[in-house]
Amino acid sequence: MNYGFIIDNRKCIGCHACTVACKAEHNVPLGVNRTWVKYIEKGQYPHTRRLFTVTRCNHCADAPCVEICPVTALYTRPDGIVDFNNDRCIGCKACTQACPYDALYIDPDLHTAAKCNYCTHRIETGLEPACVIVCPVHAIISGDIDNPSTEIAQLLASEPVQVRKPEKNTRPHLFYVGGDEAALTPTLASRDSDYMWSSQSGKVGHGLKSDSVGGAGGEEGASFVTTLLKYPENLSAIGESTAQFANESTEIGIEKSRRAYDVPSEGVMWGWEVAAYVWTKAIAAGAVLVPFLAAALGLSNQDSAVGLTSVIFAICFLGFTGALLVIDLDRPERFFYVLIRPQWRSWLTRGAYIITIYGFLLSIWALADVVGLDTIRDWLHWPIIIFAGLTAIYTGFLFAQAKGRDFWQDSTIVLQMLVHAFSAGTAGLLLLSTILPVIGFDRPLLHETLLWSLMVSALLLIFELWTVHPTLDGERTKRSITRGVFAPLFWLGIAGAGLLVPMLLLATGSPVLVAIAALLTLGGLFLHEHIWVRAPQLLPLS
Ligand code: SF4
Repeated sequence: MNYGFIIDNRKCIGCHACTVACKAEHNVPLGVNRTWVKYIEKGQYPHTRRLFTVTRCNHCADAPCVEICPVTALYTRPDGIVDFNNDRCIGCKACTQACPYDALYIDPDLHTAAKCNYCTHRIETGLEPACVIVCPVHAIISGDIDNPSTEIAQLLASEPVQVRKPEKNTRPHLFYVGGDEAALTPTLASRDSDYMWSSQSGKVGHGLKSDSVGGAGGEEGASFVTTLLKYPENLSAIGESTAQFANESTEIGIEKSRRAYDVPSEGVMWGWEVAAYVWTKAIAAGAVLVPFLAAALGLSNQDSAVGLTSVIFAICFLGFTGALLVIDLDRPERFFYVLIRPQWRSWLTRGAYIITIYGFLLSIWALADVVGLDTIRDWLHWPIIIFAGLTAIYTGFLFAQAKGRDFWQDSTIVLQMLVHAFSAGTAGLLLLSTILPVIGFDRPLLHETLLWSLMVSALLLIFELWTVHPTLDGERTKRSITRGVFAPLFWLGIAGAGLLVPMLLLATGSPVLVAIAALLTLGGLFLHEHIWVRAPQLLPLS
């Protein structure tokens, strides 16, 4: 048994009966949808036509949402249906980043993830999904795609079909007959602020809870700050224009097309908490990685006070990291499910264990140091270095697992995380050594490490932003950073104040200017994480 759907676009009349039936069947709250119909208008007057596209979970055979879910709240049933259990969900929102099809939402009442589950309660009693039976033109066909006697298998065998985003290799079980590229590829149709229901963006669903100020980007009069920090839902808010869309679509042979009706976007699901946690984690990892590695390689004679101060400093930032991780959950009281119900393929689970073990090792090291158990302390030296390194880089793998965001699929992201840990850790220790000069940190070593890590960061940045990204969405995100809404922050905050100025200040060698360089480095890194987390989420996935 292998369930799938076919949407026959030749028949669909865009009546929304499927949307309404699904809402009624599953008691779906206002502002969120398990299935909906998107209208795209194509061509130029008078030669225009309207395309209807039914959108929902694709019940992928290789479902990235299942892979990233840290607590097995999402799972694939033996009959191929990707189902969810909201009693297990912690509201981490990772699935909404992993799904390339925008199929998941956070239920505004339960604060847990939800999506189409193929009406499993109906299937199990021999009924078809609610959307299938309600469709007046039989445009939705469900059934076992592996059984040649079913209508769906026969249609699949006889008609050419399309799937959304085949390049994601998710092996979707939702097929379109007569699907149009402009309707199936979200960023090929322009997303102005005047299509039906566009005014709801950021005022319903998840956006209401997370950033309660509302203020959808793209609304008239949205300030730069509102646009940056809240919900820029239309692409003009990130420096894109309808003209750019039209040009790009035409360049790849797609007629000019625009959204005429769509549901509100869910907005930015990973907000400042995620950026802040990546930043505090980099400090916690680097503050120990640098002095411990230097000592292990014989580059520095680390005395006990330096080691203990670095370890306590890292423990503090690890504590902030844990707090931010929990704060970001929509069900924070369930945070421990990650540890007691782990789903080991998820880098969220692996990361939770990595930082827990890292914190544990640091605590034992500090205890051993204080009570004079030198053998245990020395024995922990390399395990701590390894776990500091893993703490630094695991988020790179987590972002890469978020398959919905093309920009995060960058090959340098893991290396960037490691280099950021070096920069953040040394900057933190340099500031600490300014405040606590009695500790005897190896300032020349920190100084040199910071300078080198900033130079490597700058090179990685140039490589990432000025080499061609393999996808259009990746390119658009880059453009929003270097030339769009994020450009002032990028050029002044990251490239200027966060990289170039600190390098120049470090070159002077003056202790005060070095301390300022360390502060600026930390500020630049925070901006970097903020923009890198936020910018890709401004592109629509459906
Ligand atoms: Fe459905 Fe998206 Fe998960 Fe695929 S990745 S199974 S479309 S929720």
